[in-house]
Amino acid sequence: MVDGHGSTSLPGVFAAGDCTNSAFKQIIIAMGSGATAALGAFDHLIRN
Ligand SMILES: Cc1cc2nc3c(=O)[nH]c(=O)nc-3n(C[C@H](O)[C@H](O)[C@H](O)COP(=O)(O)OP(=O)(O)OC[C@H]3O[C@@H](n4cnc5c(N)ncnc54)[C@H](O)[C@@H]3O)c2cc1C
Repeated sequence: MVDGHGSTSLPGVFAAGDCTNSAFKQIIIAMGSGATAALGAFDHLIRN
């Protein structure tokens, strides 16, 4: 389960693509969620 930033319930762990609770399992959605998770991880590192 990931939130809108790709963050999982484990602090500092982000996920993207088919292994998440995304509604549709498609390549373009996995790519977009990868970008979201990368930005979410960057934001997490800046704040912590
Ligand atoms: C038969 C089929 C047809 C599809 N057709 C389409 C289509 O036409 N259009 C479309 O948009 N989508 C299609 N999809 C969906 C699309 O393939 C997926 O949504 C997309 O590949 C998900 O990308 P992902 O990076 O999340 O996961 P994946 O592409 O599954 O990548 C996960 C990677 O992690 C690796 N891995 C797993 N466990 C470990 C481990 N322990 N350590 C290291 N690496 C590991 C795997 O080997 C794999 O390379 C299809 C899927 C299937 C099965």
